Amino acid sequence: MHRTLIVAALASLAACAPEPEAPVRVSALVLTNSGTYVPQEVQLTTVTNVVSMEGVVAKLVGGARIRSDSQDPELINAPTEEAFGNAMIKGGGRDVTASFITHDGVLWPADFHTWNMVTAYYNFEKAFDYFRTVGNIPLADFGDPITVYYFPEFILADTSGEALKDNALYFPPVQAFMVLPFDELQRAPLAINAGIMAHEYSHLIFNKKVYGGRRLPEALIQWSGFAASPGANLLKSLDEGLADYHGFGTTCDSPTGCDTRFLRTSFDDKFSNDRDLAKSDRCMDVFLRTSLNQDNLSTFGGAGREYVVGSILASALYQAGQAGGLAQHKTLQRALVSAYSDTTPNNPGLAQLVNLTLGDQTNFNLISASAVIINHITDLPLKTAVCNEFIDHLAIPASALSTVCPPSAQGGNTCPRLPNP
Ligand SMILES: [Zn+2]
Repeated sequence: MHRTLIVAALASLAACAPEPEAPVRVSALVLTNSGTYVPQEVQLTTVTNVVSMEGVVAKLVGGARIRSDSQDPELINAPTEEAFGNAMIKGGGRDVTASFITHDGVLWPADFHTWNMVTAYYNFEKAFDYFRTVGNIPLADFGDPITVYYFPEFILADTSGEALKDNALYFPPVQAFMVLPFDELQRAPLAINAGIMAHEYSHLIFNKKVYGGRRLPEALIQWSGFAASPGANLLKSLDEGLADYHGFGTTCDSPTGCDTRFLRTSFDDKFSNDRDLAKSDRCMDVFLRTSLNQDNLSTFGGAGREYVVGSILASALYQAGQAGGLAQHKTLQRALVSAYSDTTPNNPGLAQLVNLTLGDQTNFNLISASAVIINHITDLPLKTAVCNEFIDHLAIPASALSTVCPPSAQGGNTCPRLPNP
């Protein structure tokens, strides 16, 4: 053999090892009952290249530079939504290189970033499994592996010139996740927190199903152009609340079981308690309802109120599911995903309701969106429970849901009834 061919053969061997077939046995950082993360053998069932961390679910990319800047001529002049998203990517990055030590047939990460990346991939895989099985989403609907920018430089120039740190997010304009570098976070890195990664993955599913996979969702763009953007505010609130309920849902399939405070290993007590799904006395109040209905998305979102409204929704769903235990939660979670998009005549999903109301966002409101969700719950006791929780916690008059709820559903009595707006 010519020596250059031998060199090439040797080089490819070195670059590709180890490259076992899925499922791959790896050690990842997994939460234990004591609240700490410890190395534990898991299987990556969808990975196709464990060195570059890519597979059916995701592909990690290192060293990317992403910059959103309203003054950027490349963004201003981008002719299409796709060009707009791509113009934000100032550096596309490159393959990551995970490094392992093989021990008894199990790949052990050899450095911190490999621990972080393997665990992130594993957590994405668990979220993917959840939406495929509990959510009943067909494999084909997931599309290509989603890009995960690992430790990118991510700058939102209109807010700050500094690169963002200590976060993990789904960023629709570039149709990718980002796992940002650490700075001050003293607790578990977000990529290692399975519930948080599932929360972020839920945003991808919401984008695919409710927004048709759009980088710049039509309804958010159109509706936020008005002084008051109740429809856009509600969409963001639904997205956050449902992401928390699904994040909780994925914890139920983990070794430590259902966890309503899955933020706690990464955030402080106050923040975690504010989002604890088991908190049963969250109520819509007049101030919040007024903000939802009368503020622009920049004010509403600027104050983080999508999380406040979202948490009321998430804990209402939790209470409704909890009455029937884990099986009831899964039934509800599947029903919710089925409500994201539904082209059945006379039974619109949220995507269809958005389209129907695009010309007047006041028609995309708590009542109409709740009705879409309730119409997708077929189990009568569960439907009744959701009706009762929504009437009570979201302060929806029982009469407004009388066409979709059983007559017995008149709401609980945890929250005060609000005067009509
Ligand atoms: Zn979120």
